[in-house]
Amino acid sequence: MAVLKATSPTAAATTKLGPAACEKDAEKLAFIEEMTANADQVQERVLAEILTQNSETEYLRRYGLNGATDRVTFKSKITMVTYEDLQPEIQRIANGDRTAILSGHPISEFLTSSGTSAGERKLMPTIQAELDRRQLLYSLLMPVMNLYVPGLDKGKGLYFLFVKSESRTPGGLPARPVLTSYYKSDHFRSRPFDPYNVYTSPTAAILCADAFQSMYAQMLCGLIDRLAVLRVGAVFASGLLRAIRFLQLHWRDLAADISSGVLTPKVTDPAIREAVGDLLRPDATLAELIEAECAGGDWAGIVKRIWPNTQYLDVIVTGAMAQYIPTLEYYGGGMPMACTMYASSECYFGLNLRPMCKPGEVSYTIMPMMGYFEFLPHEEGSAVGGAALQQLVDLVDVEVGKQYELVVTTYAGLCRYRVGDILQVTGFHNAAPEFRFVRRKNVLLSIESDKTDEAELQGAVERAAALLRPWGATVAEYTSQADTKAIPGHYVIYWELLMKEGEGEGEGEGERGRLPPAETLRACCLEMEEAMNTVYRQSRVADGSIGPLEIRVVRAGTFEELMDYSLSRGASINQYKVPRCVTFPPIIELLDSRVVEAHFSPSCPKWAPH
Ligand code: AMP
Repeated sequence: MAVLKATSPTAAATTKLGPAACEKDAEKLAFIEEMTANADQVQERVLAEILTQNSETEYLRRYGLNGATDRVTFKSKITMVTYEDLQPEIQRIANGDRTAILSGHPISEFLTSSGTSAGERKLMPTIQAELDRRQLLYSLLMPVMNLYVPGLDKGKGLYFLFVKSESRTPGGLPARPVLTSYYKSDHFRSRPFDPYNVYTSPTAAILCADAFQSMYAQMLCGLIDRLAVLRVGAVFASGLLRAIRFLQLHWRDLAADISSGVLTPKVTDPAIREAVGDLLRPDATLAELIEAECAGGDWAGIVKRIWPNTQYLDVIVTGAMAQYIPTLEYYGGGMPMACTMYASSECYFGLNLRPMCKPGEVSYTIMPMMGYFEFLPHEEGSAVGGAALQQLVDLVDVEVGKQYELVVTTYAGLCRYRVGDILQVTGFHNAAPEFRFVRRKNVLLSIESDKTDEAELQGAVERAAALLRPWGATVAEYTSQADTKAIPGHYVIYWELLMKEGEGEGEGEGERGRLPPAETLRACCLEMEEAMNTVYRQSRVADGSIGPLEIRVVRAGTFEELMDYSLSRGASINQYKVPRCVTFPPIIELLDSRVVEAHFSPSCPKWAPH
């Protein structure tokens, strides 16, 4: 294996992006330059490749493409679709139909998106070659990071990476999250040594599906190698906070293992035991240091204190993850947070060419070789149906300042597929636009990868409210918030109840007198959780990354006060609608000051991996 010797900027080329850290980086940076400079030509080539590869598919034949591979024919014949439109085709593939339905290449597996349809994870068909494309995008991240943080080849990354349980479709194809697929692939497991990508976590720990054992081993190895750690990360901010929470809960056991040099019997996975056994030696000094840092209960800047050489936190804090920025600033002691890439199960999109910028300034450059990208203008009163199709613009034609919904055509066979992300153009790198991630359409509540929309919340409230009927109570109004003050975060649902005259009298004392019994309200919490989508329930049950749902009952008249408050801030009385989710701190304060009582879900909802 060629070891990279050149680490000084002078040894490698200087690109428009900056001086490369080594020859290999120079190549990668030149590649980024080439792709972005020729974004339109690359897009044309990508579309032609996709249409050639899939020319014999049932899908493209249905639209009468007749082997055409040009943009004009593609745009005139192929319609824009959502996941729901493709569900019949996807179901057939899942059931074992191996004919070329969407893709000319065999479907190798399904990627289970955290986006859901009818409560279930969306199933994204993928092909083997997509792994290479994902790998290609990953390979661009460190060369860009090395432009901003020198010397990352002199140490390691403490990354908390996890696989989730997987299942098989009736037709026998694996169905699993895209990162699980990647970590289990040879691309990851047999990756050649790269001094810029050395992790403290043994691969065996990453590949263990038991969340506790995996986290324990990854944390332990990160502690053992603490001085080598130059960056600390997880995919999303919520994942890193979960790791910090884990340290808060388990530092005693971890320190004891380090002191004795013996791994706790709670970790039973043989591969982990073997991998950790190679690293763990009795080290009383380190154990004492960990105890000293953790025992005081002062967690401010804990990352910097335990891993003093950390240069930055590598986590996504854009989109739904922005809510965690203050907490990460607290634990990280103000360390920079780098958001490096933007990706999905459907397609990996692009990377942040200025990863050390402030979280509020993050823009992602969509890399034109990853798929064929179109953009649907997203404005008030945007066109729908056929008219919308006419409005789709190409990657290089988007305008700075405007917002668009991302529409993608992939090598795996998705054609003009609406991803559901709203992006705003902030500028261009060469001919390739840079985008700020604005939000995901229709997402009301999100703690980690869960995405609960308004209809799901409404359905859950209705289901739970049915339990109130025997008590003569109905839910007059409701709203919600994702409460992330404590880790794990949890959903809070504010309920204003209406009690039928004469019912529930004498159920208790004082203000709660006529409310349904606490037991019933707790059952309502659980009932709401049972009604949530599978990603929510999996996070609750298998990952423990979402805490028990809470119902806060507010006193009568609270929602009227909420309306008055909004009107006083300029809302129109004719158009006023109760917000189904609140994030504005004064409104949350108002609601919280009117809470009569709060109840939590007493147990986990049902969830099974298969
Ligand atoms: P999934 O299909 O479960 O892989 O989720 C993909 C979705 O996660 C994207 O469509 C985005 O909505 C969101 N996402 C991925 N990367 C980012 C990012 N860097 N910033 C904000 N949201 C992101």
